[in-house]
Amino acid sequence: MQALTQRAKQVNRKPMTFMESLYLPSIFKGMGITFSHIFKKNPTIHYPEQQRPFSPVFRGLHVLNRDEEGRERCTACGLCAVACPAEAITMEAAERLPGEEHLYREEKYAAKYEINMLRCIFCGLCEEACPKDAIYLSETFAPASFARKTFIYGKPDLLIPDKNKDPEGYAKAKGLAN
Ligand code: SF4
Ligand code: SF4
Repeated sequence: MQALTQRAKQVNRKPMTFMESLYLPSIFKGMGITFSHIFKKNPTIHYPEQQRPFSPVFRGLHVLNRDEEGRERCTACGLCAVACPAEAITMEAAERLPGEEHLYREEKYAAKYEINMLRCIFCGLCEEACPKDAIYLSETFAPASFARKTFIYGKPDLLIPDKNKDPEGYAKAKGLAN
């Protein structure tokens, strides 16, 4: 039969020597390795109390951005959804009504905006495609969950708090609070 790999290793089936049958040398050798690690620096950290800094190029959870006046920047053009290789983004556009100029920057806005985080590969292409600087990947990440539907992030989850009204929430969403 043809071997699937070149790394096949012949198993040694020779009978054990007396010392080997005692297992003690192997046990002491294993214990020696264990004890040698006791005085070494612990590589683990106490997460979430302690956290390691992210890489400068880390791409985390998406944020829908606001402008300096706190208005939503997204104009529901759909370019991010087209650019997304995982087809993770869906949205519904709506027209801004008179008197809503303080809420939405453009004449059209996203009435519904969803990202399926189970599909997302955090490539950042949506951020690059956006002509309005409306979406970017922050330095936070999607918290763990047991339910699939909790990974569909809607607009209330993604829209960044207004930094003039809620500076703490704004910093947290951007990943600056830690
Ligand atoms: S980061 Fe990539 S995969 Fe995730 S929503 Fe944006 S374009 Fe799609
Ligand atoms: S986030 Fe940007 S690219 Fe996506 S729909 Fe909104 S304005 Fe268009």
